[in-house]
Amino acid sequence: MNRRGLRRKLLFSHIGVSLGSLLTIMLLVYFVMSFSFGKYVQHQYEAEANTILEDLKGSYNVNSGQWRMNNLMSISHQAMLRNYDIRIYDAVGNIIWDTENMGRMMHGSVSKGMHEKVSDSDSDHIVARDIIKNGEKIGSLEIIGIAGSFEMQNRQFLKLFNTLLGWAFVAVIAGVTMFSILMSNSLSRPLVRIKQIAVQMKKGNLSSRVPISSRQTEIEEVGLALNHLADSLQQQDKLRKHLTADIAHELRTPLTTIQSHIEAFQDGIWEVSSEKLEICHEQVMRLVKLIQDLESLSRVENPMVKLQRERLCLNEIIKNSVNSIKGQFEEKPIELVIKEQDQLYISGDAGRLTQVFANLLDNAYKYTNEGRISIEILEVSDQALVTITDTGSGIEPGELPNIFERFYRGDKSRDRRTGGAGIGLAIVKAIVEAHGGSISVMSKLGEGTCFTICFPKI
Ligand code: ADP
Repeated sequence: MNRRGLRRKLLFSHIGVSLGSLLTIMLLVYFVMSFSFGKYVQHQYEAEANTILEDLKGSYNVNSGQWRMNNLMSISHQAMLRNYDIRIYDAVGNIIWDTENMGRMMHGSVSKGMHEKVSDSDSDHIVARDIIKNGEKIGSLEIIGIAGSFEMQNRQFLKLFNTLLGWAFVAVIAGVTMFSILMSNSLSRPLVRIKQIAVQMKKGNLSSRVPISSRQTEIEEVGLALNHLADSLQQQDKLRKHLTADIAHELRTPLTTIQSHIEAFQDGIWEVSSEKLEICHEQVMRLVKLIQDLESLSRVENPMVKLQRERLCLNEIIKNSVNSIKGQFEEKPIELVIKEQDQLYISGDAGRLTQVFANLLDNAYKYTNEGRISIEILEVSDQALVTITDTGSGIEPGELPNIFERFYRGDKSRDRRTGGAGIGLAIVKAIVEAHGGSISVMSKLGEGTCFTICFPKI
């Protein structure tokens, strides 16, 4: 896997998304600021002018026709701080206060003689207002340079804002790059591990597994699926190796017996007797059974061979199967019980289904020494269910997943030479599934086994 490719893609996509969002925000801020900046500044100095006007109205004494000095001083002080100038005229237009010429302008002295207006030599914007108190004009106000002063302050603010925005931009890009490197590492590390395991599996090493943490992500689920695949491949591999050995073993045992008997007859060591011939016949029949089982399995698994389906009474099929193997049951102290309620009908091949139940009952008999074998026929929603429960040896938990594999025989079956070749349950499963049904097993070692078969009811 190209780990750097994943990292590059993630990096580009993260940076792309962040750049896109940042640029959109910056453009928006820029346009909003430039369109509303003038209005905002105007609004600010208009508000300031109104405040000064209100202060002036408050500082005028109507009776004496005088302005309160300390109010004028504080307005001047504020003007100086904000970097603009104020001129105040009385009702007839005489200048009574000018912060530009603070030393010269004094209330009273100006009222007499100083009629000239301070020239507006500066190109600054002048805000002019009449001072009206109780409906009567008591003077007028000019504020010089207030717009420039506010504009400058706001421009300084904008400059700072833009600098901060630039730094934020750099910080976000750096953060996104680091985040995307961390992210791509955390994503690619498990993927690389999965790829390594898959390569090892391809080379035939089926023992490696992807380590899975407790908090499972989608990637870890892929790893889990790969682990399952490795498990089943390992299992298949083991079964395949067993299969060859099993077939050789199944063929060798009867053939060796037949060979030794015939050689003994030929060398005159043994007389040909009906007992000896019976032993040879049994071994031949064992080979015939093995070949029949193999043929039967290949027929069921061959999609070209169709089932002879018809409407069948499941209860009847089971009873026929019981009758076909009933003779054996007299040899061991085993009770055979059938529990049924209604007659259940399914669509199936009578011959094949009889074989299914005969195989299952045969196994139940083989692996049970005493006790009971019970068959229960039930109806569960639209399914016909059959359970076959025995009180036999049970199956080891480790063997359970394998018993439906062809040629799989449990250890006890091998040791006891029970005669089967380990194909019985493989045939059963193939027939049940060909009928659209399913089979499952539950077992407890030393206590018994229960097979459950399900068919769609008609
Ligand atoms: P076999 O010819 O060995 O019986 P099967 O395919 O019929 O082959 O069964 C496979 C294995 O499943 C058996 O070897 C045996 O270990 C186990 N098995 C099947 N049925 C039973 C049962 N009723 N009780 C215990 N073990 C069983």
